[in-house]
Amino acid sequence: MIVTLKGDITSEQYQSLIERIEDKGLVPWPDKGTSKTVVGIRGDTTKIEPDYFMADGVESVTRISTPYKLVSREFHPSDYVIDVSGVKIGNGYFAVIAGPCSVESEEQLFAAAKAVKEAGAQLFRGGAFKPRTSPYAFQGLGEEGLGLLVKARDRFGLPVVTEIMSEKQIGLFARYDIDMYQVGARNMQNFDLLKELGRVGKPVLLKRGGLEGTIENWLSAAEYIVSEGNPNVVLCERGVKGIETKAYRNTLDLNAVAAVKRLSYLPVIADPSHGTGNLSLIPDISLSSIAAGANGLLIEVHPDRRKALSDAHQQLSPEEFGRLMKEIPKFVRLRRKIEKLRKALG
Ligand code: PEP
Ligand code: MN
Repeated sequence: MIVTLKGDITSEQYQSLIERIEDKGLVPWPDKGTSKTVVGIRGDTTKIEPDYFMADGVESVTRISTPYKLVSREFHPSDYVIDVSGVKIGNGYFAVIAGPCSVESEEQLFAAAKAVKEAGAQLFRGGAFKPRTSPYAFQGLGEEGLGLLVKARDRFGLPVVTEIMSEKQIGLFARYDIDMYQVGARNMQNFDLLKELGRVGKPVLLKRGGLEGTIENWLSAAEYIVSEGNPNVVLCERGVKGIETKAYRNTLDLNAVAAVKRLSYLPVIADPSHGTGNLSLIPDISLSSIAAGANGLLIEVHPDRRKALSDAHQQLSPEEFGRLMKEIPKFVRLRRKIEKLRKALG
């Protein structure tokens, strides 16, 4: 439920509204980002009539129709900008997250960081903890990998993004001051992890689950984080299981990029590396994702993919990445035209 306030609401009227909300065992959720100040109500409001909160100083009370509330456009109509240690994403700000699938060694990581920085990426990625299908596959360097990421950040100046797999790792991530915590596709519905990340407040890159990731489930996963108090969520479309089994690994769902932008104000980026699992498709799908409205890209880059310990078949070389990066500004401009056309179509 959302309570829209009148511009001239007094502080007594405001306080009395907050008390009425709290008396019902609900949590008031002020949002000052829109021209009209609104207060969201967090909790089960199904048995309360909206009129209950009508009072002096209140303009209207409306129910949000979607199961996810605080991340919906109904709650907050304009796009959010998420700040990751100074790098902005969303509402006209476009950011590229690039780096290897896994942190493998200092030499590999530094070569990747140098390359992605020179090509113009804004954020550096690399998995220290890897979710692998087989327990015998390379699981990542763990804490040592976090240490190397921090060293690369110090040397090359790009904030770092890395995957967190369990709420037990939060203390460790905080000690290394990781800039953005990635929740991988396999953990999109790890509710304990999502809730804890909501309490931490660090920016979260929430990937869409490959199997359970309906739009509603994905946005509900974001709601877990936001409703615990952390508004800093960036959504990442990384492909879903389609019917194809040979030509590509996953199907990057461009519909989802466009659809989620209608339903939520959160920034959405696309990951054509996991979304295709096929090197040759990455340029086409990267640029089409921008045209579809993505606010950024996640691209895997490895200095020598033949030696990569994970996802060897989908990591661009530094040269390939550099060539792709040069094309991106044109497509960001093209997107502005598409946006105008879309608005004209209604
Ligand atoms: C990754 O980013 O390397 C990764 C494992 O991604 P996903 O969760 O999308 O499979
Ligand atoms: Mn990977």
